[in-house]
Amino acid sequence: MNEYRHILLAAGYTGHSEPVTWKAKDLAGKYQAKLSIIHVLDDIPMPDATYGTVVPLAVDSTDERLENAKKDLLQIADELGVDRENCWLIWGNPAEEIVNLAEKEKVDLIVAGSHGRHGLALLLGSTANGLLHHAKCDVIAVRLEDN
Ligand code: AMP
Repeated sequence: MNEYRHILLAAGYTGHSEPVTWKAKDLAGKYQAKLSIIHVLDDIPMPDATYGTVVPLAVDSTDERLENAKKDLLQIADELGVDRENCWLIWGNPAEEIVNLAEKEKVDLIVAGSHGRHGLALLLGSTANGLLHHAKCDVIAVRLEDN
């Protein structure tokens, strides 16, 4: 049987993403796996940064949207009991950065929703689709209701 050792939750911050969060927690518990969380910032302009820039969680910024994104990530981390060092806020394209981090951190399972912000018009959300096509590890797309 496949034993997962490191699970990565792709946190998209949409109202209906809770089942994704709890699926990741449940699987991490069942496999006794390390759990990490990533949120990719793709809607906040960061003029001085290149794609792939890791945003430090401990350094305060004057950008309210950035601070809100940090707050949301840390709230999920607290709910799941994930340490700060396993929380990643990265600027860039969501699917690309999730795949990159998964490779860098030797993740063996990515847990994402079947759709999020982009999902309603597509069979699978664009991020879920990108992950299924490009990740080198297993990917679970947790089925989410449309509303
Ligand atoms: P979407 O492509 O927006 O339909 O989202 C599909 C799934 O990909 C979501 O349910 C999340 O699990 C994940 N996802 C989407 N956007 C992001 C993001 N910016 N950061 C991390 N994960 C994301």
